[in-house]
Amino acid sequence: MIIRENIPLSELTTMRLGGPARFVIDIESRDDIIPAFDFARNHSLPYYILGGGANTIARDAGFDGVIVRNCMRGITESSEASNTVDSLSGRVTSAEGDPRELQRVGEDSTRQDPPYMLNALGGTDWDAVVAYACERNLTGIEALAKIPGLAGAAPVQNIGAYGQDISDTFKSAEVYDIATGDFKTLNASDFHFSYRHSILNTTDRGRYFVISITLALAHGTMPRPFYNSIERYLESHPTDDFSPASIRDIVSTIRQDKLPDPADKASAGSFFKNIYLSKSDAAAAEAKGYPVYHGHDGLKINSAWLIEQCGLKGKLLHGIRVSSTAPLVLINESATGYADLAAARAEIIAAVQDKFGYQLEQEPNEL
Ligand SMILES: Cc1cc2nc3c(=O)[nH]c(=O)nc-3n(C[C@H](O)[C@H](O)[C@H](O)COP(=O)(O)OP(=O)(O)OC[C@H]3O[C@@H](n4cnc5c(N)ncnc54)[C@H](O)[C@@H]3O)c2cc1C
Repeated sequence: MIIRENIPLSELTTMRLGGPARFVIDIESRDDIIPAFDFARNHSLPYYILGGGANTIARDAGFDGVIVRNCMRGITESSEASNTVDSLSGRVTSAEGDPRELQRVGEDSTRQDPPYMLNALGGTDWDAVVAYACERNLTGIEALAKIPGLAGAAPVQNIGAYGQDISDTFKSAEVYDIATGDFKTLNASDFHFSYRHSILNTTDRGRYFVISITLALAHGTMPRPFYNSIERYLESHPTDDFSPASIRDIVSTIRQDKLPDPADKASAGSFFKNIYLSKSDAAAAEAKGYPVYHGHDGLKINSAWLIEQCGLKGKLLHGIRVSSTAPLVLINESATGYADLAAARAEIIAAVQDKFGYQLEQEPNEL
């Protein structure tokens, strides 16, 4: 277990704002978990679990507490009943030697529990998990390519993109229950997943330290039609290859053109959530000519559209740039501190409220 003191949070979060954290503990093995949380308790300090800091905003005052990071990395694969795969035929042979065709996900919506379990330790880079699955021709998370951050944070806000959410394939997580001191397995149903929510950022925020996650994946391809922007991309780049690896490449290309790479530009990704509407509110919005998206997860208005309609796309507000390619994304170009971000955020929220009457809600967590 490594304990460091007075570490600037601007170095641990992708928005690159925030003063010092009093202590940062890197958990490098299971044996470190209990001592790390005991350390916080014994010093009567609050703790905050941090992954890659891609969905966390820190304030100038820093954090007078203990930042706990899961630094355990690695991916393992197991198949139920010890199945093996013939990579050429795509057939599975069980340990009993009983060959059976793998279900093609795109062809049959009555998909059974898929046989391939991928387990990733929480400190593993999320995109490495996606790459690992795609290299093995496993479908289910290919559209989640290039989402910054670590595997342990992926269920927290039920990461999603381009028509997939992690809840679609999430099987379970091994967690440490900080409240009771127990190690447990939480199944997917325990998480109460919904759009950008789970118990980990609602009812049980801060209670569980995610040690590892297990995803249930299958051979096959994503069902068509794909998400709008993938279909649009295919119109100008036709291909018949919809394998997980191909979709991962397509999504990576679309994202590269649209979204800032945290290595180059400071941001926390989408800064605001989309607006979800009831049926009657959606009908009222459509009557006014607002574009309402009928998604698999409900009726919504894209908040990027709202921000764009307010003339804010590409604008620089207090050193914070509203992205010109993805207006939901705020980029820290030259903010002098958290106050600049707060001022930019307030202007955007007020503009959308004045013009449309919708209240934008911030997506990233705040320390
Ligand atoms: C450029 C960019 C693009 C993005 N695109 C998307 C996108 O397409 N879709 C999407 O859903 N998100 C997107 N995001 C947001 C972000 O990538 C995800 O929320 C990601 O899961 C954050 O991972 P992290 O490890 O950086 O989390 P952090 O910011 O470190 O933590 C996020 C939350 O998870 C908790 N947490 C972290 N690790 C653990 C753990 N081991 N156990 C328990 N709790 C934990 C934290 O306490 C915090 O509440 C984007 C962000 C950026 C910067």
